[in-house]
Amino acid sequence: MDRLDRFRPLLELNVPGLQLIPNFDITMRTSMKMRSTAAVFAVVEHPIALRALLLATRQLEVPAYLLGGGCNTLFATSFFEGVVFALGRNFKELDHAGGNVIRAGASVKLPSLKRFSHECGLMGLEFLERIPGTVGGALAGNAGAGNWGLCDFVQRVIVMTREGFVAPIERGQFRYGYRHSELRDCIVLMADFQLEPLDLEEARRREKEYIDRKGTQPYDIPSSGCIFKNPLDPQSKKLVSAGKVIDEIGMKGYGIRSARIANGHANFFVNEGRTSRGEDFLALISLVRDLVHQRRGIDLELEVNIVGGPLNSAVLV
Ligand SMILES: Cc1cc2nc3c(=O)[nH]c(=O)nc-3n(C[C@H](O)[C@H](O)[C@H](O)COP(=O)(O)OP(=O)(O)OC[C@H]3O[C@@H](n4cnc5c(N)ncnc54)[C@H](O)[C@@H]3O)c2cc1C
Repeated sequence: MDRLDRFRPLLELNVPGLQLIPNFDITMRTSMKMRSTAAVFAVVEHPIALRALLLATRQLEVPAYLLGGGCNTLFATSFFEGVVFALGRNFKELDHAGGNVIRAGASVKLPSLKRFSHECGLMGLEFLERIPGTVGGALAGNAGAGNWGLCDFVQRVIVMTREGFVAPIERGQFRYGYRHSELRDCIVLMADFQLEPLDLEEARRREKEYIDRKGTQPYDIPSSGCIFKNPLDPQSKKLVSAGKVIDEIGMKGYGIRSARIANGHANFFVNEGRTSRGEDFLALISLVRDLVHQRRGIDLELEVNIVGGPLNSAVLV
């Protein structure tokens, strides 16, 4: 049996605004650049097309993964026997919706969102400095820095439920916290962000502060950002830096083939070359978790979304 056989009825779908590509190389679609192929890659340009895709994958019982910018996603196997789908350029709308509100489509890149808000005379999103990815991915994981996450600024979100219904979600109608958001359970189509009037000098000061804080994070080599969430210290009951904990057990710089714990920041695992495989990262993740558990009594929770393999943590539709 051909590995694409179960996807044939899906590939035969003919819906405007839905592009379906079999055997798609997704390596360059993630910031980690892990070599992998998806059975089917779909680009969706319209909510009706999205609904058709969701209903079809459900009917065929094939797993589907929603990919934003791929900056917090690790494909763990060389072949993903499912559908990877992304929202296309029609979801890249950016608008000044009046007052202090910016409207952004789910596929808008975070640096563009921040830049556009300044162009509109608004600020508040300076903490997004040096955070790559899209509005949809950042709302799903409440991406942020310091005390701020993107969900803090949401006024309203338009989502599609997994059953294919479009619904507005107002501020206060969804829960979120540190690198967690209930929006992860649906598909964000667009969001309105409530900001404050721009004070350019203050905005530049905040940006610099965030850049300075991130001095040790590697940006010139493929990674997925932080692998683990910062854990609670069992003694002090306060959040401690996962990078610091990994560093303290002597793992900084340790590697398996080209998969390595970054020298500068031990919560960043980097892909140093073409020879690394998803399995190498999984082994590194398991090793770090075991050692941190043994030596510090801390259970590290994944921040990165692992797709496929034994540590799969991704929400599959
Ligand atoms: C160098 C580097 C530095 C980073 N620094 C930070 C940092 O300081 N702070 C931080 O929080 N993160 C950081 N990250 C991680 C990453 O940038 C963020 O998690 C970002 O929000 C991921 O967005 P994305 O679109 O790439 O998400 P993806 O990796 O594509 O997806 C992440 C999750 O969001 C879901 N998703 C994607 N789009 C949607 C949508 N439209 N609706 C619902 N769910 C969706 C996916 O299914 C998946 O579960 C860093 C990453 C890198 C590579």
